[in-house]
Amino acid sequence: MEEKCFTIALAGNPNSGKTTIFNSITGTRQKVGNWPGVTVEKKEGSVQKSGYKLNIVDLPGTYSLTPFSIEEIVARDFVIEQNPDVVINIFDASNLERSLYLATQIRELDCKVLFALNMEDIAKQRGIKIDGKKLSRLLNLPVVFTVGNKNQGIDTLLEKAILLAKQKDISVLERRVKYSKDIEQQITTLKNQIDDTVSELIGYKKRWLAIKLIENDEMIKKKVIKAGQIVGQDIIEQAGACRKRIVTLYNDDPEIIMTDERYGFIAGIIKEVVTTSRQQRVDISRNIDLVLTNKFLGFPVFIFFIWAMFQITFTLGAYPMDWIGSCVSLLSGFMGQIISDGLFKDLLIDGIISGVGSVAVFLPNILILFFCIALFEDTGYMARAAFLMDRIMHVIGLHGKSFIPMLMGFGCNVPAIMATRTLESKKDRILTILITPFMSCSARLPVFIILAGTFFHTQAGTVIFLLYLLGITMAIITGRIFRMTLLKGEDAPFVMELPPYRMPMLKSLVIHMWDRSKMFLKKMGGVILIGSIVIWSLSTFPLKTIYSIDYDKNIKDIKKTYAKQLNTADKASVKIIKQQYKIDLTEQENAKSIEKTESSYLSRLGKFFAPLFEPIGIKWRGTVALISGFVAKEVVISTISILYNVSGDEPDALSKALKLSMTPLSAFVLMVFVLLYVPCIAAVVAIGKETGSYYWAFFSVAYTFFVAWVTSFVVYRIGLFAGYC
Ligand code: GDP
Ligand code: MG
Repeated sequence: MEEKCFTIALAGNPNSGKTTIFNSITGTRQKVGNWPGVTVEKKEGSVQKSGYKLNIVDLPGTYSLTPFSIEEIVARDFVIEQNPDVVINIFDASNLERSLYLATQIRELDCKVLFALNMEDIAKQRGIKIDGKKLSRLLNLPVVFTVGNKNQGIDTLLEKAILLAKQKDISVLERRVKYSKDIEQQITTLKNQIDDTVSELIGYKKRWLAIKLIENDEMIKKKVIKAGQIVGQDIIEQAGACRKRIVTLYNDDPEIIMTDERYGFIAGIIKEVVTTSRQQRVDISRNIDLVLTNKFLGFPVFIFFIWAMFQITFTLGAYPMDWIGSCVSLLSGFMGQIISDGLFKDLLIDGIISGVGSVAVFLPNILILFFCIALFEDTGYMARAAFLMDRIMHVIGLHGKSFIPMLMGFGCNVPAIMATRTLESKKDRILTILITPFMSCSARLPVFIILAGTFFHTQAGTVIFLLYLLGITMAIITGRIFRMTLLKGEDAPFVMELPPYRMPMLKSLVIHMWDRSKMFLKKMGGVILIGSIVIWSLSTFPLKTIYSIDYDKNIKDIKKTYAKQLNTADKASVKIIKQQYKIDLTEQENAKSIEKTESSYLSRLGKFFAPLFEPIGIKWRGTVALISGFVAKEVVISTISILYNVSGDEPDALSKALKLSMTPLSAFVLMVFVLLYVPCIAAVVAIGKETGSYYWAFFSVAYTFFVAWVTSFVVYRIGLFAGYC
C-alpha cells in the first residue's frame, strides 16, 4: 500500500509557541537547516499519524506577510509556492489581536488553514475567554485549543489537520476577509483582468494577486510583468487605475486603507469571540505601574532597586564568602597534614585547592545576584525595567529588552549571553552578545578589590565605580559603532508588553536562580580547574633551577654564624641576634624562590609577550596574570599570588609584594585591561554557541582585546602626562 504523505506548515507570530508545538509533534525526528539562499532557520521533521506520513515545517515567525523582512518573504513564498496541504496557524491566545493580523493575511491566501489557539493556559490566567466555536464559524475553519508546553491538544490538532488535508472541496472553506464594498469592487475588476495563464504561471491565486497589486507589492508586480510580458503590463496599468480610484474615494494610500480595514475586521472578530473577565489583579498592576513606570519616579526607583541588588549581593554575600574561605584553608591545611611532601601535594594544595577555592568563594555572590534577578523577573518588574530602559537603549540602537541580559552580565557573562535568546531579531542578539562582555562580571571584582584596595585605599570604592562606568561607556560606544557599521539595520518596532505583577513563588525563584548558577559551577569544575592545574604546572616547571647565587650555601652560612653568635652573646643581645637571624634567613629564602619563579615556563611566557604590553606599562608579571585571566578572570589574582610567592599566613603579603613592583598608575591600567578584555573561555564558548558561529566568538575576542589595549594605552599615556607614575 502506498503511503499517504501530507505537508503541514506551522505559521505564527514569534513566541506564539510554534517551535514548542513543532518539537512536541516531531520529537527527535527533525532536521535543522537554513532556507535556500537565506540564513533563516529552517526546521523540518516528520511523524506518522493514523496511517499518514506528515512532514512538518516550522515557518519563520512573523507578524504579517508584507514582504518587509526575509522571514516574511520566506513564510509567504513557502505557503504560496510549495503549496503545503495544510497550514496550521498558531496563535498566542492571550494576545489574540496581534495573532489575528497574520491570520487574516494567511486566510487571504486561500490555502487550507487551521487555527491552533495556543497558550490557552495563559489566556485563562489573564481572564480571557475565547469562544472557539464562534471563531471557527466566523472564519469557517477548524479551531483547536492547545497548551504547547504541556502537550495538550496536539493530538486533536493533528487529527483535524489530517481531516482538512483529506478534504477535496475547499470551496466551502472560502470565507476570507471582506473589505468594504468599494474596495471589493476594485479587487473584482482587477481579478477579472488577470489572465489565467499569468496566475497559473506565477502560481498565485487571482484574488490574492489582485489584492497585492492594489497594495502595490513590488515583488508581485515584478513577477506579473515577468510572467505576462505585454499582458502583464496591461495588468499593472489596470492595477494603477484601481489604486487611483481608491485614492479618489478615500483620499489615502490603498495599502493604508486595506490595513485599516483588516484591523477593523479583527476588532470585529475580537468583539464577537473574546470576553475578558477583568480581573482585579490587572487593576492592582495598573496602580503599581502608576508609580513604577512613572515618568519621574520610575527611574529613581529603578536605580534604587539596582543599587539595593548590588548592596545585598556584596554585603550579605560577604558572610558566606568568609565561611567558604575558611573552609578552603581548613581543607588545604588538612590535606597538608595527611599527604607527604612532594609534587602531588603541591599540585593539590597550591594548584587545585587554591585555584578553585579562590573562585568558589564567589558562589554566594552569584547565587544572591541571580536570586534578585529571578525576583525581578518573576514579579514582572523586569519587564518594567526593560520598559524604562527602552529609551536609553535606543541610543545604542537596541531595545529595552536587551537590557536584561546586560544586567545579568554583572553577575556572570555566560548566563547573560544565553539570556539573549529572548530577543527576536538575530542582529539584536549578536549586538547584545558583543556588548555584554563589557559589563563587569563578578569575577572581575576581586581583582579590582585587591588592586584598588592596595593602591587607592580610601578612594578604592570610587575607583571601582569608575571602572564599572567605563565598562558601560564602552558598551554604549561599541553598540553605536556596530549598529552603524557591522550590524546595520533599524531596530524592528516592537510593542513592549507589561504582564500583570505576580506574587513570586519561592520554588520557581530557586529554580531560576539555580539554572543560571549552574553554569557558574560548571565553569568552576571545568575550565577553572584545568586552568589552575595548567598555571600551577607552568609556574612549577622546570623543577631544576640554576641560581645566580648559591642560596643554599648562604643559608648554611647564616645558620653557622647565628649559632656562633649565640654561643658568645650576652643575655641582652640574644633577642637582637634572633631577630636579625630571622630577617637574614627570610631574605635569602625569598630571593631564592623569586629566582625560581622567574625561571619557570610561566615567566618565560610572560617575558615573551611582555613587549606587547610594555607600551601600556604592564610588566611581565602583569602580562602573565593577564594571559592566565583568559581562562577566567578570577585566576588573575591567584596567578599574581603565585608569581610573588605569597604565603597564605601573612595577611598583607600580597599588598606588600604588589607595591614593590607596581605604581598606582600601572595598577589602574591593569584593572582597565582586566575590565575590558575577553571575559573568559566559558564566555567565548557561550558566544560561539549562541551566535551559531565561531566567527563571532573569535571576533569578540579580537575586538575586546583591541579595545582593552587602546583604552589602557590612552589611560597610561594620559596618566604619565599628568605626572603620575
Ligand atoms: P516560537 O517563537 O513561536 O517558536 O515560540 P516557542 O515555541 O519558542 O515558545 C515561546 C515560549 O512559550 C517558550 O518558553 C515555551 O515554553 C512557551 N510556550 C509555548 N506554548 C505554551 C503554552 O501553551 N503555554 C505556556 N504557558 N507557555 C507556552
Ligand atoms: Mg521558534
